[in-house]
Amino acid sequence: MNCSRPIDVAILADYWLAALTPSEENAVEEHLLACDACGARLRESIALAEGIRQLAREGSLRLVVSDSFLQRAIQQGLRIREYAPAPGGSVQCTVTAEDDILIGRLAADLAGAKRVDLCLCDEHGVERLRLPDIPVRTGAGAIVYQESMSFMKAAPTTTIVARLVAVDDTGADRPLGEYTFHHTRTLPGPGSW
Ligand SMILES: [Zn+2]
Repeated sequence: MNCSRPIDVAILADYWLAALTPSEENAVEEHLLACDACGARLRESIALAEGIRQLAREGSLRLVVSDSFLQRAIQQGLRIREYAPAPGGSVQCTVTAEDDILIGRLAADLAGAKRVDLCLCDEHGVERLRLPDIPVRTGAGAIVYQESMSFMKAAPTTTIVARLVAVDDTGADRPLGEYTFHHTRTLPGPGSW
């Protein structure tokens, strides 16, 4: 079972969550009718999507999401807080008790990148966490990153640098953009980076 144009796993998950537009949905359905490989991947992603749906509702997960996922969340009445610093720029941000989903929109030229990693760094730019091979949509001009809401609600005032890198066949990083989030604590309680 091989597929020359495998459907992005994020799109399969959105398909299962009915979060695609009708034309996107038709295209996926047509492909699945003819492609056993993607059908098998869909069955795998169904289990994943059910887990993601629950976790995303709880806002407790770090992951890269799609705009259709956000539209779906808004329709379900979830409150989304979004920050979109320019590449190389910074933004003052916070989170309140009423927010359900926290989004960082990271604009970057993703053309030609085979694999994109999202690195979360401390205020000195030292990498602390890496999300490897994040889903990137063809033609997308941005990565939509959902930060863990439970983490940020507990986080102290801190600076986090998000760095997008393209990884080539030799494993070398090519920087795509850096985005600085100056987070101001709004809720009491312990917690540290
Ligand atoms: Zn396929």
